[in-house]
Amino acid sequence: MTYSSIRPAKISFVIPNSIAEEVGFEVGDSLVNINGVQLRDLIDYQFLCADEYLKLDVVDNKGKIYYVELQKDYDDDLGLEFEKVLFDGLIQCNNHCPFCFIDQQPLGKRNSLYLKDDDYRLSFLYGSYLTLTNLSQKEWERIERMRLSPLYVSVHSTEADVRTRLLKNHRAGQIIEQLKWFQERQLQIHAQVVVCPGINDSFHLEKTLTDLALFHQEDIPTIISTAVVPVGLTRFRPIKDELIPVTRTKAKEVIKQVQSLQKEFFHRFNSNFVWLADEWFLIGQEELPPESHYEDYPQSNNGVGSIRQFIREFEATAKQLLPAKINGSATFTWVVGNAVEKAFLPLVERLNAVDGLTIILEALHSDYWGQETTVTGLLTGEDLLNQLQGKDLGNGILLPSIMLKYNDIYFLDDMTVEELAQQLNVRIFPITGTEELIKTCLHNSTLST
Ligand code: SF4
Repeated sequence: MTYSSIRPAKISFVIPNSIAEEVGFEVGDSLVNINGVQLRDLIDYQFLCADEYLKLDVVDNKGKIYYVELQKDYDDDLGLEFEKVLFDGLIQCNNHCPFCFIDQQPLGKRNSLYLKDDDYRLSFLYGSYLTLTNLSQKEWERIERMRLSPLYVSVHSTEADVRTRLLKNHRAGQIIEQLKWFQERQLQIHAQVVVCPGINDSFHLEKTLTDLALFHQEDIPTIISTAVVPVGLTRFRPIKDELIPVTRTKAKEVIKQVQSLQKEFFHRFNSNFVWLADEWFLIGQEELPPESHYEDYPQSNNGVGSIRQFIREFEATAKQLLPAKINGSATFTWVVGNAVEKAFLPLVERLNAVDGLTIILEALHSDYWGQETTVTGLLTGEDLLNQLQGKDLGNGILLPSIMLKYNDIYFLDDMTVEELAQQLNVRIFPITGTEELIKTCLHNSTLST
């Protein structure tokens, strides 16, 4: 048997004390198939492992082939992690959206920044959005057979001509038929609409949201939730005249329009069904809705309610962890996008109420992308360097890890955290979540500047 034509699943980690460690798996080994089925991706692995009797074909890093047979409970995890989750490669995008962030970056950066994925497997595994324009019959059948649900679908418009104009793909107009396909099979979707002023806003937006609401009616709603997101533009966008940035006036108009629809949907469904991304309120300079508005936060990964969620988590963690005073004194600089400055000021006040602790909030914009108002996740190393150099940054920078991509080392402009730390001559603490934020302040409070 030859394995030369297939791409096996290369193991990157064997969990200690797991079945895989007991069997003798090592990092660098590759899993070729399970019970005779060749693995395409992590989804195949997870489905096939839900069996009590497994026959595994394994090849080690010298090319030697092993056969392993084992018996386990159906829900026992083998304890393997892989270098990639898609063993047969990424399904790439075949659209040409003028608002695509990938095309709005400068050239010459690392290759991974230019990969346009439109892969239903990543949607199922991690909640990334896909357009459904590039699925072969085989993939549709697999979604149905394996019941890969919910998926996250970029709808943008339910009108065939408007969606085709936005995605620049003649297959984009089939969206209503595709939603019906999901409905007939009781498979579910979270939807998003990226609003591009002058193209899919005003009455087009109203039509899209009311059309989508028709798929929210059954006991098992086909569309579980919908996020409405403002288009994000950078100075590197290749086509400048097709898209108009979202202004404060436009943001206020969309907020009013969607809030009116939410009232109607709540009356019908006892759920808002449609949510506005936080950015609308930041651009429109309006108060964020209360926490109860977001129900169970179905779209927080899409920036819907994520600020409210962060504030709620911060308050709970602060209550639990923050002391009245610290030993000695310490000062940290917390860097965020200026879009969230106002919302985060009460959190800084709470941290500064701890005797001895000083937090300086640096709310920055991005010259790199050419934006006056910037969300935290888009700040680059260059933005931080230009706006922080020469300032007293205290014991270190608290850096939200949302700014870092690719193994948490690189900013979006390819600068590394280490390079920035060297140039600013300061320690940088990447932080994820409120607990790490507070613990970092407390555990490093005895450092001298
Ligand atoms: S579908 Fe997504 S990745 Fe593809 S062109 Fe549009 S925005 Fe870019």
